[in-house]
Amino acid sequence: MAKQRALVSGVVALCLWLGTAPSVAAAASAVPPLAGPVVRGFDPPDQPWLAGHRGVDLLGTIGAAVVTAMAGRVVYAGTLAGRGVVVVSHGALRTTYLPVTPAVAVGAQVGTGQLIGRLGGGHACPGGTCLHWGLKRGDTYLDPLSLLDAGPVRLLPATATGLIGQVITGRTRALADGGPLPGLLTRPVPGAVGSAFGMRLHPIFREWRLHNGVDLTAGCGTPIRAAADARVVSVSRDPASGNRLELDHGQVGGRHLVTIYLHAQGFTVHPGAGVRRGQIVGRVGSTGWSTGCHLHFTVRLDGRYTDPERFLSP
Ligand SMILES: [Zn+2]
Ligand SMILES: [Zn+2]
Repeated sequence: MAKQRALVSGVVALCLWLGTAPSVAAAASAVPPLAGPVVRGFDPPDQPWLAGHRGVDLLGTIGAAVVTAMAGRVVYAGTLAGRGVVVVSHGALRTTYLPVTPAVAVGAQVGTGQLIGRLGGGHACPGGTCLHWGLKRGDTYLDPLSLLDAGPVRLLPATATGLIGQVITGRTRALADGGPLPGLLTRPVPGAVGSAFGMRLHPIFREWRLHNGVDLTAGCGTPIRAAADARVVSVSRDPASGNRLELDHGQVGGRHLVTIYLHAQGFTVHPGAGVRRGQIVGRVGSTGWSTGCHLHFTVRLDGRYTDPERFLSP
């Protein structure tokens, strides 16, 4: 008994010496839910009704794999206040993941590190899009990083700030020098580029003209998705473009980014509306000067046409 007590006090002393509280679960059994760095830490409010940050944010990209930090059972997989959420129960503890498009159903048993969904947009953080990862015991929010061994994921704020700075600087430079920035825009339709950006012999007028966007291969009726979060500038129709949509994505890396979608069957959004990255905004068609169903997709940076393939995710 005395020996046991000595061992316990030894463990407590070691924890104090390391400057960390004992982990709330077997530390070795948890993994980070996303590969990205922690860019915003746990900052619970002093009172439940005050603002704070009841979890940690991991920097990622839209569509990145999100895994469960620990083995457990899925108790929620759906939408809350417009955002996809997955909650996994681990006995007395629960972990929450958002915004996540669930890849699991309620009731599913999941093993540590198993895929539970894909990162969605909507939880903005410095440097891009983040996964918000929460941990609760009953009604009490805990720091999810306490589940992990102090490893590379536990970045100091200074390190995280440096990394965010690098991401932003890299993005701004790529935008300025015409370099590629894959993933800046989501593909509006899954198809390949059938006709590239640049001078080409026009298929109808048989003369050389600037093709000011890319033609993406897509069957009639394929959903068209917004390439990034945006505000609808206009929905119009003219003989050349057919049904035309223009989206304003605001400033990206100090440049004004606009995307345009042509030849649609129709659009389901209205001028002034806010749209989310990946949201369905219309259906592919063959209206205007078009020889068959496809999506003509244009990108304008500071008012100038630029090759959309620089920015599309592969
Ligand atoms: Zn957060
Ligand atoms: Zn075209």
